[in-house]
Amino acid sequence: MFNPISVIERKRDGYALSSDEISAIISDFTDGSVKDYQMSAFTMAVCCRGMDSDEISLLTRAMLASGKRLERVTDRPRVDKHSTGGLGDKVSLILAPLLACCDLDVPMLSGRGLGITGGTLDKLEAIPGYRTNLSESEINQQLQSIGCIITGTTQDIVPADRMLYALRDVTGTVPAIPLITSSIMSKKMAESLDALSLDVKYGSGAFMKTRELAEQLSAALTSVGEQFGVKTTARLNDMNFPTGEMVGNLNEVLESIDILQGRGPAGITELTLDLCADILQSCSPEMDREAALSQLRKLIDSGAAMQRFEEMVSAQGGNLKALPKLAAETDFHASQAGQLISVNCYNVGMAVISLGGGRSEVGQKIDHRVGLKMLVEPGQHVDAQQPLCKIYSDSDSKSEVARKWLNEAFQIQ
Ligand code: URA
Repeated sequence: MFNPISVIERKRDGYALSSDEISAIISDFTDGSVKDYQMSAFTMAVCCRGMDSDEISLLTRAMLASGKRLERVTDRPRVDKHSTGGLGDKVSLILAPLLACCDLDVPMLSGRGLGITGGTLDKLEAIPGYRTNLSESEINQQLQSIGCIITGTTQDIVPADRMLYALRDVTGTVPAIPLITSSIMSKKMAESLDALSLDVKYGSGAFMKTRELAEQLSAALTSVGEQFGVKTTARLNDMNFPTGEMVGNLNEVLESIDILQGRGPAGITELTLDLCADILQSCSPEMDREAALSQLRKLIDSGAAMQRFEEMVSAQGGNLKALPKLAAETDFHASQAGQLISVNCYNVGMAVISLGGGRSEVGQKIDHRVGLKMLVEPGQHVDAQQPLCKIYSDSDSKSEVARKWLNEAFQIQ
């Protein structure tokens, strides 16, 4: 007879758990027989004592087994990428259609903003009509016809993660490598992938505040991917500055369109192409790096990637011709001259939330038209009163709060 208390106690005392113990606690939590208070104690024990790589892989398998996996509906290789969260990170919007143009299927199940980090679904919902709740049969149909989707997870995909994440969010147990790894990888493995590229962030805007912690997370994620037979590559990226110029929702869609049309900022364009090239090389190990990058650039230059994006958006009910206008813009100025050393992304994220572009409460409605545009880069010399970023907002009072967050965000020496 399974006793959850003994599993909690064994983890509390630092023992490695068996496959039976891990699968029982997850399945009994999913069916309601392990209570929230017991699961909270379990997740806290995992936070304090950690898990070895076998336990992390077993935990991922147990979570995956709580629901269904997407069916394979074409002969094309299936690929995806995952970012561990960031500010201004709109790579998914470009990567999915770009890889679909390379004859790969991209069944991207994405999430909403979490804490200060933005969410792909929130960004895409800035497009009037865009649906992020496709059913499994709609997902399958769209993969057959267009080769890419970006939608939310269905109810049947890893229900254990939905329940566990809600609990972790309110019990101080989000930033633990075994829990983050099993949460991310169970959802990705439910997509039935052949290859996955990971963008693991570190710094002030990331879950992992240091590069060392991001390296540990990256090793745990790739090890689980490989154990599932999915070719998994990872890159570490600095989240001490937003990715690209725009941070928000509608403005990030506009920047994604610029990148898809070959006129986006260089840094985020390169990051996107690198993550795509990692996947192309995982699927075709004989392909050299330059050939992969050049194939991707051609798909942007020819307009093919943009056209696939338009097809994906319209298949999901979105109307790019009806995009609203951004909110009114004002500048935020430097208070002193000097070199821009770094940008505190936590403050930038809080500024966007205070404009209404992110959530401070569960379920809060987002104002897609607000946000920020970064006008400077770290290392650059700035003059006193030089504009550092643009603020998009129709509300003076919300802008004032955002300015307070921004006052502490730009470190100039
Ligand atoms: N993203 C997830 O999906 N899960 C986590 O635990 C953290 C980030």
